Amino acid sequence: MKIYNTLTRKKEEFVPLEEGKVRMYVCGPTVYNLIHIGNARPMIVFDTVRRYLEHKGYEVNYVSNFTDVDDKIIKKANEEGVDPSVISQRYIKEAQKDMADLNVREATHHPKATEEIGGMIQMIQTLIDKGHAYEVNGTVYFKTRSFKDYGKLSKKNIDDLEAGHRDIKVTGEEGKKDPLDFVLWKPKKEGEPSWPSPWGDGRPGWHIECSEMSKKYLGDQIDIHAGGEDLIFPHHENEIAQSEACNGKEFARYWMHNGFLNIDNVKMSKSLGNFFTVREIGEKYDLQVLRFFMLSAHYRSPLNFSGELMAAAKNSLERILTAVDRLRNLKGQERPLNEEENTQLQALDLLCQKFDKAMDDDFNTADAIAAIFEMVKLANIQAQPESAQDFVNKVLDTIVKYCDILGIITDKKEEMLDEDVEALIQERQAARKAKNFARADEIRQMLLEKGIILEDTREGVKWKRA
Ligand code: AMP
Ligand code: ZN
Repeated sequence: MKIYNTLTRKKEEFVPLEEGKVRMYVCGPTVYNLIHIGNARPMIVFDTVRRYLEHKGYEVNYVSNFTDVDDKIIKKANEEGVDPSVISQRYIKEAQKDMADLNVREATHHPKATEEIGGMIQMIQTLIDKGHAYEVNGTVYFKTRSFKDYGKLSKKNIDDLEAGHRDIKVTGEEGKKDPLDFVLWKPKKEGEPSWPSPWGDGRPGWHIECSEMSKKYLGDQIDIHAGGEDLIFPHHENEIAQSEACNGKEFARYWMHNGFLNIDNVKMSKSLGNFFTVREIGEKYDLQVLRFFMLSAHYRSPLNFSGELMAAAKNSLERILTAVDRLRNLKGQERPLNEEENTQLQALDLLCQKFDKAMDDDFNTADAIAAIFEMVKLANIQAQPESAQDFVNKVLDTIVKYCDILGIITDKKEEMLDEDVEALIQERQAARKAKNFARADEIRQMLLEKGIILEDTREGVKWKRA
């Protein structure tokens, strides 16, 4: 299996540190808002990488963090007049809901930065002790020039960086000895969350958070570190400097980066305001369509989002789901397989190999999907009422299994149980009482999508199936 490694700018054979095991870290979102569909790209892409590694027989320890202390979270908390933890907890919950709807599996560990401050302080202390960091008036800086490999991931030359930085002065960072140095610990500001440390009350810088959480949950050395391509510099470059300077070992063997999701060929980002949240898209489409759309392109290519492309993805996905549905309802013959059916199963096996070959080539999901379409074609032609039931079952199981590697759910949506409906109605009542009308409306809409109609009557809420 080959993986494109940003570190070497080459596709390399994947060899894990420990046989049969993969340690993988994916930088997660900063939680100050609903996630947008650009944030969903790394989630979907690297969840698929994980699923494929498991299909290959690896045991994957998959860690993805939530950045829950950050200027943007504090700003939002001040706007709403609440504690920053209210904001971060709210949006962690919302992100988890979106991830579940995208069929992104839960990570082995989902650490939160605010719960790992002790480890970060220890790591910063080690960097100071080893001469890679220094403190000035409560701020601790990483001494960038002390790490000789700085720039190896982003291929930036340290002297060029120095020239670019010469006249940039950031307020509050006057104590920096070199413009290239970056913050590991910043002192407390009034009204901001802070933790005690040997350098006074304060909070960690963003980069040290990931270095520490990766070390704690995966060890000093990991196999794969991943995120969007915007993280290559400075975030991942700085993570390498901190982790390798602290641990004295190569940090991650393979660095994987997804391309950006664009709108009208412009990067989708919160700061530009040209984004759709996953929630908004979920109102228009089944989120499986979004997942399928993302996987139709190679993860390293830029991907343009449009209604037309989503409509095309919806149609393609529908073809697979319809074929699976037909196979599920097909009553075949109770007899052993005949020669032709055995030949067809061999052809099916070749398509499975085609799928694996595509995925082995740096996770070429577009070609893997093409292999699934060939399986669907085989099924539509070959699986008929006169076929052996065992043949039908084998074809069905194969398609379902390969869709699952991509995280595509082939089950028909299950009808809601009465007790689930009742529970949601109760929650809606409670939301209305608390004047949380947005949530109340959301629940009504959710039930409507499942075919449940609510009526507010004098005797209370009544419901019926449409
Ligand atoms: P953030 O919350 O901005 O730290 O981003 C969380 C993750 O989403 C990071 O891996 C980013 O690289 C990724 N990301 C943000 N915007 C996009 C986009 N438009 N397309 C693809 N990935 C993105
Ligand atoms: Zn990170």
